[in-house]
Amino acid sequence: MRLLIIILLMISGTVFCQKDKYESQRQRMVDDQIVARGISDLATLKAMTEVPRHLFVPAAYIKEAYSDRPLPIGYSQTISQPFVVAYMTELVKPAKGKKALEIGTGSGYQAAVLAEIVDTVYTIEIVPELAKEAATRLKLLGYHNIVAKYGDGYKGWPEHGPFDIIIVTAAADHIPQPLKDQLAEGGRLVMPVGNPATAQELILLTKRNGKISEQRLETVWFVPLKRLR
Ligand code: SAH
Repeated sequence: MRLLIIILLMISGTVFCQKDKYESQRQRMVDDQIVARGISDLATLKAMTEVPRHLFVPAAYIKEAYSDRPLPIGYSQTISQPFVVAYMTELVKPAKGKKALEIGTGSGYQAAVLAEIVDTVYTIEIVPELAKEAATRLKLLGYHNIVAKYGDGYKGWPEHGPFDIIIVTAAADHIPQPLKDQLAEGGRLVMPVGNPATAQELILLTKRNGKISEQRLETVWFVPLKRLR
């Protein structure tokens, strides 16, 4: 009996230490990479502090999960750099009561960050294997307010629109018209636009009184938005 208790204590000790290890790495990521570079929206910072990024990367990259760079997630795709996720999240002004659409689920990390704040996140992924993996991961982690599907996000998800927030995490030379159409009044859309093979500019669209205005922001590097034929 005493041996059993000792073994149980050792196991729970290891689990707690692991948890502490990732929590402190995550806090350092938020302080050094995100707050230090000017992100100040409290909801965004809280979400970045809570989502366990190490559970969204392949096992081989767990040690680097909180480093200041994008990481490979297979199928020639990447999970974005933590700062870029935080920056795009802050730009779309997430809040309770809002509905979001993400194009490019990838690992599901950006969707999880949004889902910590908004009511519902709809997310679409064009690589079937990634779509399946992300949906399973998000369900296991208890993100019941994320609806994920496989498909071509170019056309958006009209059945669930209009959306207060649209985040596109893959690059193209223009913003798809269906996404502009599915942006709600007062809504915000952010997308990397430019040459998908090199660098792009992050573009923020805002819809007011049915009119869309555009702001050009930072230079970014995203994987290309693909099309289903
Ligand atoms: N947001 C992701 C990272 C995105 S990488 C994360 O947090 O991990 C960009 C993703 O967009 C890739 O997984 C890619 O397969 C996907 N993608 C590319 N074109 C797409 C399209 N037309 N519709 C949906 N997903 C697309």
